[in-house]
Amino acid sequence: NKRVILKRYVTGFPSEEDMEVVTAEAPLMAVPAGSEAVVVKNLYISCDPYMRNRMTHHEVPSYVADYVPGEVLTNYGVMTVISSGHPDFKAGDLVWGITGWEEYTMIDNPESLSKINHPDLPLSYYTGVLGLPGLTAYAGFFEICKPKKGDYVFISAASGAVGQIVGQLAKITGCYVIGSAGSDEKVNLLKTKFGFDDAFNYKKELDLDAALKRYFPKGIDIYFENVGGATLDAVLPNMRLRGRIAACGMISQYNLDNPDGVHNLFYIVTKRLRMEGFLVFDYNEMYHRFEEEMAAYLKEGKIIYVEDVVVGLDAAPAALIGLFTGRNVGKQLVAVSQE
Ligand code: NDP
Repeated sequence: NKRVILKRYVTGFPSEEDMEVVTAEAPLMAVPAGSEAVVVKNLYISCDPYMRNRMTHHEVPSYVADYVPGEVLTNYGVMTVISSGHPDFKAGDLVWGITGWEEYTMIDNPESLSKINHPDLPLSYYTGVLGLPGLTAYAGFFEICKPKKGDYVFISAASGAVGQIVGQLAKITGCYVIGSAGSDEKVNLLKTKFGFDDAFNYKKELDLDAALKRYFPKGIDIYFENVGGATLDAVLPNMRLRGRIAACGMISQYNLDNPDGVHNLFYIVTKRLRMEGFLVFDYNEMYHRFEEEMAAYLKEGKIIYVEDVVVGLDAAPAALIGLFTGRNVGKQLVAVSQE
């Protein structure tokens, strides 16, 4: 049972050496009598920025449990059930939920798993557009940003797992949408594939404030915040009165010991802004409505989704740390097994 373990707690930027790919004994392939566990074969596992937080040892508990050195990493994945002691699952079922970064996993509490209701769409979508990043985009945009037709929307990390969906939902809503991303290839995707009105490579803009003034001469109504730091600082003075900021994530800060100073917070007062943080877990009860709506958009071709798939668990550590250098083009995931 090949698996990826955390080798040591991480400080600063994570490296491949913080993890190790090892071979361990496989779990029992048949669930013991009387147990309600299920054994799954992992097909796709998701690489998500929040995993970095779990690689740090927190004296005061964080919002998610720390990983433990020597133990297998866990995160959302798509799996097929091999054997089941639970009445709701049987061998052959396709499910998604929390699993191990390994070939086979015994899951003791299968109530946490969800059935895959649209197996006619790519199964890997349940790590992305039909999984947590999709719900994050949907809940963050509609519940926090409260968009109206014609709103001026800015999205950072716009080509990523969450950002590409936010942009397409904003276009469906009738907004004017600009995204920033870290390479010309990503900018091109935003403009040609995801239908953004415009996009720019923030690494080529020496003055972010000037860039935003150029792209939003009338200001920004909605900022979907994925990166924090200097980008947030440049956005604040460019917000319109009573603008909304969905604080989804601040990836530029995750590996810093001392967060970047943000100097422009007083604009929240003078522009009467509303900035609200959220965690996707707050919106679990919306999942089924979201899944049906998103599956319909995908089937109608109204939303398209770009994934960055690496093959095999050996490639997983590099794929995970690549999120922090922008190596991924679209949703980063690992194909563990194609069957
Ligand atoms: P992405 O697929 O967007 O991958 C991360 C991207 O972040 C990279 O490709 C890179 O894109 C960008 N990035 C990395 N480092 C920096 C940096 N120092 N400065 C600016 N940009 C950087 O990831 P997700 O879509 O999965 O996540 C996007 C954000 O949403 C993250 O902040 C994440 O933590 C957050 N999130 C929050 C959730 C919640 O419940 N609140 C749930 C899921 C995600 P580029 O090349 O364009 O710079």
